[in-house]
Amino acid sequence: MATSPPNTTQHFTPRPKKWVETPDHDWNDWQWQLKHRISDLETILQILQLTPEEKAGLNSDHRFRVDITPYFMSLIDADNPNCPIRRQVIPLGRELLAFEGMEVDSLEEDQHSPVPGLVHRYPDRVLMLVTTHCASYCRYCTRSRMVGDPKASVNKQGIDLQIEYLQNTPQVRDVLISGGDPLTLSTTFLNYVLSRLRAVPHIEIIRIGSRVPIFLPQRITDELCNMLRRYHPLWLNVHINHPKEITPEASNALAKLVDAGIPLGNQSVLLAGINDSLAIQKELVHTLVINRIRPYYLYQCDLVKGSGHFRTPIAKGIEIMEGLRGHTSGYAVPTYVVDAPGGGGKIPIAPQYLLSQGVHQVALRNYEGYITVYQEPENYFSFNQEAPLPETTGVSSLLSGHQKHIKPENFDQAHDRKMNIKDKTVTSG
Ligand SMILES: *Cc1c(COP(=O)(O)O)cnc(C)c1O
Repeated sequence: MATSPPNTTQHFTPRPKKWVETPDHDWNDWQWQLKHRISDLETILQILQLTPEEKAGLNSDHRFRVDITPYFMSLIDADNPNCPIRRQVIPLGRELLAFEGMEVDSLEEDQHSPVPGLVHRYPDRVLMLVTTHCASYCRYCTRSRMVGDPKASVNKQGIDLQIEYLQNTPQVRDVLISGGDPLTLSTTFLNYVLSRLRAVPHIEIIRIGSRVPIFLPQRITDELCNMLRRYHPLWLNVHINHPKEITPEASNALAKLVDAGIPLGNQSVLLAGINDSLAIQKELVHTLVINRIRPYYLYQCDLVKGSGHFRTPIAKGIEIMEGLRGHTSGYAVPTYVVDAPGGGGKIPIAPQYLLSQGVHQVALRNYEGYITVYQEPENYFSFNQEAPLPETTGVSSLLSGHQKHIKPENFDQAHDRKMNIKDKTVTSG
């Protein structure tokens, strides 16, 4: 049998017994999928053998919302409690355990919000939270403090306030629409959000973050793609953690988006027991590029309530990056980042390739352990006459010669030992 390219395949994921009789026109209807999501223990028991710890997780009154589309449920291996699909959506009792460093809003997004639902942390771009709903809920959700709560939904007035802030903030040139999942909104409402954003002249690019192509590929209709393509330049980041998520259905949905001219990136989270191995990550990034998706970020799991047991040591992420860079296409290598606890933004972490720095020389190693020296110019000057203004803050300000050092608050006071003596003399005298 000839293998077909990903976007023309006729094979579909087999359905569990519960839905074998469901007519295709229902199964392929995204509204039907949303309406028939599974959230309770009894219904899940009709489909899966549950472990005692899964039962404890599902029975708890304090857990983060559970909701799984029948489609995504059909990807779960009913006999394997360690199935990587299953572990992402079925809670375990241990998700209720507190851990050192745990926060409810570990990225301090709420403190960076000038208006509700809009996070302005970086100079030229913002994160817009346009809904609190998702097609299914990931157990390690960074925004479990607000996502999935039916009372916390965002309405048109909320969006209008966010747009008003953007109209008055000309340094914003990039708007990232997320939530919740923006593709769970009606096409009409999403069209409203996009058209309002496009009417703001200083907004250059719009991006959407969505896991809908994975949880609910039926949502990626021609109607949706035709609406989205009117708002270019529009980029979209999906969220895929394991190659098993890229089924024929998901592959078709992703191809539709790319064919609508939307460049696709992927953000995955490094999750213990799900994708914390080089072999899985390699297969994942290869499957992504076959599907015309560029791996964008590999996130270290946030210190958020509910996700303690999903964390890996940072060394695991570095080991994975070491095994990807050079060993496979550069297109297939994401950037590994830690989203700084306390709200510092994303911090990239990579293996060390720069071994030593001499005078106009650096010693470097490659992915194989080959070591070389790069000779730097002895007299460097830029031909660029219109040199950019020197950076005035951060480490870049040191390299631009604008500052000689950066001091923590009260550094001079703490180090003025004479002043300390004088203080003592004054108080004792
Ligand atoms: C991740 C993020 C962005 C976008 O960051 P990029 O590195 O440009 O992808 C913007 N705002 C917030 C608050 C974010 O968390």
